[in-house]
Amino acid sequence: MCGIVGYIGHREAYPIILKGLKRLEYRGYDSAGIALYDGENIKLSKTKGKVDDLEKRINSEISTVGTLGIGHTRWATHGVPNDINSHPHYSNSGDLVIIHNGIIENYGTLKKELINRGYSFTSETDTEVLINLIEDIKKSENIKLGQAVQIALTQVVGAYAIAVFDKNKPNEIVVARLGSPLAIGIGDDEFFIASDASPFIEYTNNAIYLEDEEMAIVRRGKEIKVRKIKDDSLVNPYVQKLQLNLEQIEKGGYEHFMLKEIYEQPNAIKDTYRGRLLTDKAIIKMSGVEDNMKKFLNANRIIVVACGTSWHAGLVSEYIFENLARIPVEVEYASEFRYRNPVINENDIVIAISQSGETADTLAAIKLAKSKGAFVFGVCNVVGSSIARETHAGAYTHAGPEIGVASTKAFTTQITVLSLIALRLARAKGTISSSDFRHHLIELEMIPDKVEKALKSDDYVKSIAEIYKGTKNFLYLGRGYNFPVALEGALKLKEISYIHAEGYPAAEMKHGPIALIDENMPIVVIATKNGQYDKVVSNIQEIKSRKGKIIGIVTKGDQIVKELADHVIEVPETLESLSPLLTTIPLQLLSYHIAVMLDRNVDQPRNLAKSVTVE
Ligand code: GLU
Repeated sequence: MCGIVGYIGHREAYPIILKGLKRLEYRGYDSAGIALYDGENIKLSKTKGKVDDLEKRINSEISTVGTLGIGHTRWATHGVPNDINSHPHYSNSGDLVIIHNGIIENYGTLKKELINRGYSFTSETDTEVLINLIEDIKKSENIKLGQAVQIALTQVVGAYAIAVFDKNKPNEIVVARLGSPLAIGIGDDEFFIASDASPFIEYTNNAIYLEDEEMAIVRRGKEIKVRKIKDDSLVNPYVQKLQLNLEQIEKGGYEHFMLKEIYEQPNAIKDTYRGRLLTDKAIIKMSGVEDNMKKFLNANRIIVVACGTSWHAGLVSEYIFENLARIPVEVEYASEFRYRNPVINENDIVIAISQSGETADTLAAIKLAKSKGAFVFGVCNVVGSSIARETHAGAYTHAGPEIGVASTKAFTTQITVLSLIALRLARAKGTISSSDFRHHLIELEMIPDKVEKALKSDDYVKSIAEIYKGTKNFLYLGRGYNFPVALEGALKLKEISYIHAEGYPAAEMKHGPIALIDENMPIVVIATKNGQYDKVVSNIQEIKSRKGKIIGIVTKGDQIVKELADHVIEVPETLESLSPLLTTIPLQLLSYHIAVMLDRNVDQPRNLAKSVTVE
């Protein structure tokens, strides 16, 4: 779960790599490093800390001249974040150098064998084992770097996106992938290598995304050759035309990516339903669902697998699918599902949700479900990601790049996609009347405007944040569709402010958490005017009797909660099934403002990374 960047061509590599690493810091940011070939030798500089720290020290350490180079921003898996464990890593001879995203699971055994063969190691990383394995094979077989990489990779178990070069062959970089993403940008007589396309978007919009178990030798001024690692067969790579633009990946005037992404939600939701929600014709068009309608209609049940925020979106979808389409749903943590022996077969549909499409546990759950014959449908944001490729069919959220580590627009666009699927199935199954169906479409189409209105509470939410920023604990309560929103609100606060917060179904409060309530405890209660409103009001009374501080999220115009609560934040009225798309907005803003007031690193909270490509 790191960012890798490489360049070979006619320009100076250093500025390209440095800028690229900054754009990839959402993937990991505990250390950074760069290796450049200056025409004679490899020049390497690396450090614990962020890419900015690397930039500060690099000029005093090495000359940054050279038209070939590789760089890395790390999220440690093997060995603490420190200077030595940072990438790039040299081989023992100093001839080869590598950057790696992923994990070599059998590194311990390989390391022992290499030590027996006289190799020594300076770092604790699995990556240093891999580069020495490559060197050992290269030397003992007297073969070229590309061949040695290929053989070495057949001996490793795990996941990798790697870039390697040899100072004696300074006209090529060897790259390979299994389980971690790797894109190659193709310019005029120059190539860019990166974990995603953002580092090279201003230079070219032609890119190849390597598939799992593929490798490529990127040669200066030559055509790119992609081959299968296992059988050495040549692959005709698909060159994608990229649609991402730079503005999309920069902050666009906002102080943080997270805030920008919160404010992008009206458009992101529109982009999600664009071309799918045809209100005037009263239809929903989704090819991934349409092409597999029989499977969906005959399914015994849907099993949702996901992690983190995506799991919360999955929980919301449980209510949506069961209520609208009358299909039984189970929602599973991918990390638990994959290690159980789940009872699952060809009559089950698995829906895998992941923003990045690279979440390791979700990918493993997909593979397990497929091996048991289930039909697997992916919901992810990143086009061409591993999950998009591994699943039988799917639907993208089209939310645009999400850079802030704390997920916001991914959550609301996932719920949008899942609502579209549930509505389409409900229509096909006849579990929804045509007038009700049309009503849902109209309401869904109005959601972006209503999100816009919900965002107007920003200043007021900020004033509430000011009052509670010093609190050590928070509770979040909700019922029905809004129970998962309570979980998500608590998760947001934990992630970026480091304040302890718990989400509960409101009625569960009296089975334990009520003991926590006193005059110091703020409790965010989602109390919009649908389904269980009266019950939630009773829960609010219970909190009030124990002097808890109540922050109510209410439907515009609500009077009852206003009387009881210390603060109320209004959201526009909508259908109950769509209400999570609105109630989540003030919770995102609350966590954001508290985190900013506490001077936290909002976009890169400690210990977290954006795309969890390790289990
Ligand atoms: N396993 C490697 C390490 O710990 C790479 C981790 C990553 O993907 O950043 O250094």
